[in-house]
Amino acid sequence: MVAPKVVVTGGAGFIGSHTCKALAGAGFLPVTVDNLSNGVAEAVKWGPLEVGSLEDPGFLDDVFRRHKPVAVLHFAASIEAGESMKVPAKFYRNNVAGTMALTEAMARAGISVLIFSSTAAVYGNSEVMPITEALPLLPVNPYGRSKLMSETILADLAATTDLRFTTLRYFNASGADPEGDLGENHQPETHLIPLVLQAAYGIRPSIKIFGNDYDTPDGTCIRDYIHVSDLAHAHLLALRRLLGGGDSAQMNLGTGKGFSVREIVKTTAAVTGRQINAIDEARRPGDPAVLVADAAMARQVLGWTPRFTDVQDHIRHAAGWMERKMAQPEVLTA
Ligand code: UDP
Repeated sequence: MVAPKVVVTGGAGFIGSHTCKALAGAGFLPVTVDNLSNGVAEAVKWGPLEVGSLEDPGFLDDVFRRHKPVAVLHFAASIEAGESMKVPAKFYRNNVAGTMALTEAMARAGISVLIFSSTAAVYGNSEVMPITEALPLLPVNPYGRSKLMSETILADLAATTDLRFTTLRYFNASGADPEGDLGENHQPETHLIPLVLQAAYGIRPSIKIFGNDYDTPDGTCIRDYIHVSDLAHAHLLALRRLLGGGDSAQMNLGTGKGFSVREIVKTTAAVTGRQINAIDEARRPGDPAVLVADAAMARQVLGWTPRFTDVQDHIRHAAGWMERKMAQPEVLTA
């Protein structure tokens, strides 16, 4: 049987590339659409790469005409909340205008199934933990607002056209492919676990701990780290559900378990057997003390359970990736 094709925007990025691997493993052929502004071509290993911009309608029409995908998974976006405070226009253009352009091209091509990559940032600084989908959506930065706007657009389109979508709101994506095929390649890196690993391996002299006076057991922020392979698997389940006729939905993806910044540093030191120089610094603006998901809906609707609920596994997989990157930097970074 010929593998059904799916277009994966941002398939050269961290979560997109891991999802391509999961899709290929399940019998789909992922066609990556990426402008390679953040993604790396080396991460596209399970199907063709189409390099171009979502905002080039001729490009998307051509990709859809040649590949005839049964669905689209939309990861391509600007993702760094701190950057969005400085250059909001970039986020509204890439994330909101990009989603609009994509859905318009899908409508022209008659493609009605979409998986949309969203974020816990749509909830803002929730006082209530864990976070359920029923809580108010009050993002506190342009990144979160751009994702919420896109979610709203999808809901309006689904109410008036044959579009059916699943929005997946990720908590803190982390880890790397357990088989070592893929990992995180952000340039510059801003995420905690890869930065702590860089400190462990001497790529940077130290790791800054942003805030030690939060109202948490050890004073540092608590996050729900969700393994990238578990995220990838959730996308596969959401895709199958929509292709089987399921209706539109939005849901959280997290483990329901939180780890503090200090716990991450301590666990990374234990996993790598290396000393880590951690320096307490002021709080980073905009960081909520605790962010933990209630992922009951994803469990019920998708039948999804995360495999890697111990952050030690995330760190071990990410460390393996970093060691390979250090051994052959020219192949694995771009
Ligand atoms: N963090 C830190 N030092 C760093 C980077 C991050 O202490 O160099 C903290 C950050 O304040 C937050 C947690 O680690 O509490 C996770 O941050 P990250 O940027 O990885 O993800 P976010 O929660 O912002 O999506």
